[in-house]
This record gives sequence, C-alpha cells and structure tokens, in this order.
Amino acid sequence: MPDRTYPPLPDALVVPVYDDHTHIDPSVRRDEPGIDHLDWREHLDRASAVGVRGIVQVGVDVETSRWGAEHAASEPRMLAAVALHPNEAPLLEAAGGLDEAIAEIDALAALPRVRAVGETGLDYFRTDESGRAAQLKSFEAHIDIAKRHGLALQIHDRDAHDDVVATLLRVGAPEKTVFHCFSGEAALARLAAEHGWYLSFAGTVTFKNAPALREALAVVPRSLIMVETDAPYLTPAPHRGRPNAPYLIPHTLRFMAQHLGTEVEHLAAQTASNTVEVYGSWETELTGAVPPAEPDGAIA
Ligand SMILES: [Zn+2]
Ligand SMILES: [Zn+2]
Repeated sequence: MPDRTYPPLPDALVVPVYDDHTHIDPSVRRDEPGIDHLDWREHLDRASAVGVRGIVQVGVDVETSRWGAEHAASEPRMLAAVALHPNEAPLLEAAGGLDEAIAEIDALAALPRVRAVGETGLDYFRTDESGRAAQLKSFEAHIDIAKRHGLALQIHDRDAHDDVVATLLRVGAPEKTVFHCFSGEAALARLAAEHGWYLSFAGTVTFKNAPALREALAVVPRSLIMVETDAPYLTPAPHRGRPNAPYLIPHTLRFMAQHLGTEVEHLAAQTASNTVEVYGSWETELTGAVPPAEPDGAIA
C-alpha cells in the first residue's frame, strides 16, 4: 500500500520563498479515499512554519478559479491564478459552455489579488487529437486575457512543447510568461530564456528519472527560475508518492541549490525576488471579507 499520509515538516528555510503554483482548494482529491484532507488554512500555516511565505493558488475551472480569487482577497499569504485547464477546455466546448466559461475567467482576472492567468496551455498527454482545436482556442483566449489585464501567464505544457512555443510566438506572449512544472530539456530552456520566459520547477526535478530536467535547470539564467509544488501531486524526493503540499517546497529548493552548487539561502532569495517580480507583492491591501468555513470537501 502506498503511504497516503502527509510527510513530516522539513527543516525551515532561513530565507523565505514562495510556492508559485499549487492547488489547496477543498476540491483537491476529494474523491480519492484514504487521502488526508488538510484545510487550506492548515496548508498555509504549515508553509509559514517552514519558510514558505506565500502561495499562488491556481484554478483549473470556473469554480476553483473563483474559490482562489475569493480566498486570496482575504488571505495575506495567498494570491490567485485563474483559468480553465487545457484538459477542461474540450469538455466545456463539447457541452457548449467554453465561451461562457472564458468570459467568467476574464471577469475574475480583473480582481486585485488575481495576479496570473493559469493554468492554461496545451496537454497532448491527456487530450487526444479531437480535443486539440478547443484546447488551442482556450489557450489563445487565456493569452489574450493575460495581456489585457496585464497579468502573468502560467502555462501548462504536457507533451506539447513545439505547439506551445509556436502559439506564443504567433499571438505574442504576455510580458511575464511562466512555464509551470517545466518539463522540457535544455534546448527548450535555452529558447525560453532567449524570450525572457520564466521556468518554474516542481518536485519532478528531484526525481531519479529526470536528468534532462536537471540539465535544463543548469542552463537557465538564475533570474528566470522559480519553484513550485503543483500540490497535491509530484511530491519531491524523499517523499515521492505521498501527498504533496506547499510546506514541502524546502526539499525541492535544497535539491536545486545542491545541483547548481549554490547556497540554499542564495537560491531562495533569488527565486523569491523573481516570484515577486512576476506576480507582484503578497503584501497588498486585502479587499475581501473572510469567507465562511466550508464543509469538508465542498467548494464554496
Ligand atoms: Zn499543470
Ligand atoms: Zn497545477
């Protein structure tokens, strides 16, 4: 039986960082039996305890995007990214609801603590040929939303590197463009760097079978590197396979620093400053009322 409990807290980072892509809304893994459910506040408290100062909570559909936007409005440790996930787009299109959902994302993108449009992009791993037109339409619409609102773009790119790059070059990338959970090789990392696109590394960089990812990490300018969990999946070594959470960032960051032959404190300071450069400060005025507590597993 795989261990489905949350790993222990790692030693705290001396210099704090941010998790620039994570999912802590109550819908996460709610249908999976045997997974511990941590309240989003508990996620943030654990993160604070180990030097993860703030997170970007990422939406994958209208409901989770709205949840993030509303909670970020009242929670100083949370900023929000809003979007329809590339695997959602074909389903919405088939149901006749893609345009309306995009319009809702556009409206959410105007809220003050929404700082990114994501995750959007192309996923050729989970979506087959028949869904690609809807995926591309949605990706282009999200790029347009990011540009009109002056927000960062968080790209989900799975087995679709060439078409993601071609789309960005064809329609024009937003000023702040981030490859979340970067999964390319050194060549793509170099190409991204040429365009000033950011690469956000997840726990995958610690995986034994990912030498190409570590090569990519080594060729990117430090000014373009960020770190994320993409929780609840992709848990970094040495806890691979157990549930992931923002408080596990220190494992990934320490691994990256060791691989790069640099001090953890130095890399922490650099990634934190890159993250604020892309999304703006977490320390801005809170505009919303504190949302009421939700019943376990429900989406407010
Ligand atoms: Zn993703
Ligand atoms: Zn994600």
